[in-house]
Amino acid sequence: MNIAKVIVDIPVSSINQTFDYLIPEKFQDILSIGMRVIVPFGPRKIMGFVVDRTSESAFDKLKEISDVLDLTPALTTELLDLGRWVANETVSFYITALQAMLPQVLKAKYKKELVRMTDSELPPYLEELFSGRDVIAYEEFEGSVISYYQLQKAVQDGDISIDYLVKSKITKKHVTMIAPSRDLHLLEEALQDLSKNAKKQKQLLQYFLENSEPIEKKLLLERLQTTNQTVKILIDKALLKSYQVEVYRNPYDDDAFQRTTELELTDEQEIAIKPIKENIANNRHDVFLLHGVTGSGKTEIYLQAIQDVITKGEEAIVLVPEISLTPQMVNRFKGRFGSKVAVMHSALSAGEKFDEWRRIQRKEVQVVVGARSAIYAPFENIGIIIIDEEHETTYKQEDQPRYHARDVAIYRGKTHECPVILGSATPTLESYARAQKGVYKLATLSKRTNEKAMPEVEIVDMRDELHAGNRTMFSRELKDKIEHCIQKGEQIVLLLNRRGYSTFVMCRDCGHVKECPHCDIALTYHKNSNQLKCHYCSYEEPMPMNCPECTSDLIRYFGTGTQRVEEALTKLIPEASVIRMDVDTTRRKGSHEKLLNQFAEKQADILLGTQMIAKGLDFGNVTLVGVLTADSMLHLPDFRSSEKTFQLLTQVSGRAGRHELPGEVIVQTYTPDHYSIELASKYNFNDFYKKEMTTRKTFQYPPYVFLALLTISHQNKVKAVQTAQKIVQLLMKNIQNDTVVLGPTPSPILRVKDRYRYQCMIKYKNEPQLRSYINKILDLFAEESRKEDLLITVDMQPYHFM
Ligand code: ADP
Ligand code: ZN
Ligand code: ZN
Repeated sequence: MNIAKVIVDIPVSSINQTFDYLIPEKFQDILSIGMRVIVPFGPRKIMGFVVDRTSESAFDKLKEISDVLDLTPALTTELLDLGRWVANETVSFYITALQAMLPQVLKAKYKKELVRMTDSELPPYLEELFSGRDVIAYEEFEGSVISYYQLQKAVQDGDISIDYLVKSKITKKHVTMIAPSRDLHLLEEALQDLSKNAKKQKQLLQYFLENSEPIEKKLLLERLQTTNQTVKILIDKALLKSYQVEVYRNPYDDDAFQRTTELELTDEQEIAIKPIKENIANNRHDVFLLHGVTGSGKTEIYLQAIQDVITKGEEAIVLVPEISLTPQMVNRFKGRFGSKVAVMHSALSAGEKFDEWRRIQRKEVQVVVGARSAIYAPFENIGIIIIDEEHETTYKQEDQPRYHARDVAIYRGKTHECPVILGSATPTLESYARAQKGVYKLATLSKRTNEKAMPEVEIVDMRDELHAGNRTMFSRELKDKIEHCIQKGEQIVLLLNRRGYSTFVMCRDCGHVKECPHCDIALTYHKNSNQLKCHYCSYEEPMPMNCPECTSDLIRYFGTGTQRVEEALTKLIPEASVIRMDVDTTRRKGSHEKLLNQFAEKQADILLGTQMIAKGLDFGNVTLVGVLTADSMLHLPDFRSSEKTFQLLTQVSGRAGRHELPGEVIVQTYTPDHYSIELASKYNFNDFYKKEMTTRKTFQYPPYVFLALLTISHQNKVKAVQTAQKIVQLLMKNIQNDTVVLGPTPSPILRVKDRYRYQCMIKYKNEPQLRSYINKILDLFAEESRKEDLLITVDMQPYHFM
């Protein structure tokens, strides 16, 4: 078995295959599947993953593996298989899928070198650069006066080659430990022998006679108020020894968590958890959709199910959306399971993330709570996978590989024969439809555990405000309520639904929104051409001067920023103190938490923010929630816009009156009759589901069909359009009858970074060969892509259409 099959780190087409390498003698005993290696590839050395070992190869003259990066495999065989599946599902490169499973620090950095390839005289500037050496660091070139063109030419002429070296970063933290290096009685003798003046040395020896355990040097010095010097003398006398140990950076102090115990479940909870526990006990795989209003005790169900899994000696993965991975959420898991829990989220430093990952890899924890990528936790005996707030779109990665964590969870759940729980107060239509069909098992929690009613929601028609002469963004009612709230010393959450910063067009008099006659989707305003366009089907028309419904000339495109709202708010209610939370104020690491803490400590009356304030927050003193523009998301060019509006309104309403004080919600809108606003105000998920399913059926959107989105981009507009047209024609030739290919149409944001983007959408019910057609198309354009910088991206489960 001296041949390794290696997947190399070159994400170009047709390199989904493995390459064979000889395993040198010195690695034969240690090399195993899942390790990362360095291999020669053409003139370069690159990283790769060993995916198999064999004794035969179809090729002769194999090259040798140059180096081995891991002594324990970075990936298990299960994860290697999973990567293959993910790559295939998402039409990505296998190597990219594998890389996505590893913590950042293991995605090796490349160090570049310039290698002289010829003995003949080089141009003087290059001779000077190399000054007699054969290999120099790439940085030397970067610091020189030589132009990229000159270097490129030398490379093209074959005089110089650029090589890549993998430089592994320092990823481990070490501390120095001090311990006795002799038997204690020898230490005792030495103590007697010391002169009277050697007080400090005596004190140290005395310490170790009483405490023979090794101790961290830093602690020792602190505790004894002694010096490094003294320690060193005793080390030199071989009485003490010092050595390094690796420590983990645990970002959480496990002792600081208030430990909790299992609550006695309510009847509803009992019914919901029973089949999950049966799954666990019998190693069965089912997907459960846990549909429960906010505060209905879903998390307690997760905790008790995980307890069963731990008792069984197995492991649990819990996914929560990045934004709700707050200390509050972490507390609940650490509080129940203490140091058995690893936490993975983006606020951790790369080193901290790596440490948490290794604690999982070494089986030092049994539970991981984390954002999307925690689905790849290298556990080997998974007993349950939980996805909280399953409707959140952050579970979909918007980068290669464009996977959805839910799909990966279900795949792993099958492999490990364990239950997968999807929890939400507002499940996606896709999941709920599957539950209706019996593909998933549905469990419902209809009541809050404290038996409190959900807060009253009142809808305010902003058209009436306008007609009454109020041109501000705040209705009179909301203003009064805010003032009243501040007087009582209670707090307010204001949501500005800013995803709608985009550009739909609406009449401020009657609320009419221009929609595409063929797609039931708001038209997008294109400022440059002053046109309205449908980005699903290419329909377009000029921007109207007057509203086609009521002839008012107050037809405008929409958008408001948080900063402007804050200004307006403090002008309107000068006594209000406001904390603003949006992408601008939360860019810095930790600022998100800091602002929330300030609000929790009542340093401000009002928390004003975008979507990010809607999730998971739990403030007892908040009694009023205001939604400033409920409809701004409703008219995005996205067939999920009603669903997202419904979800957001439901989530944000749940923020009020969580505890003793009753809550109230005010929703401002220009379209009070829209079903997603009306039904969200009544917390009526079931009717919303039925209504929305009808729309999806009529216009043929998921869950009735599957979608795939191809985006073609190029610096030259004509090139982009023509390529897109060719691709559509190729697809049309291959697909089955009931599959629809729409486009090409310009992406809503046509030009990004000087590239023109065109897209085509595929709607299909059953198209088993689709992925292979798309792969063929990618192969066909591979050469052109590389040479002419043409970019074709494939999204097999699109959530963003911009
Ligand atoms: P969800 O996750 O559905 O929003 P939580 O699990 O956060 O709901 O529960 C809401 C509150 O109810 C929490 O404070 C939790 O401690 C409490 N709770 C949950 N289950 C029970 C129970 N069986 N008995 C009493 N309190 C409970
Ligand atoms: Zn109108
Ligand atoms: Zn259209």
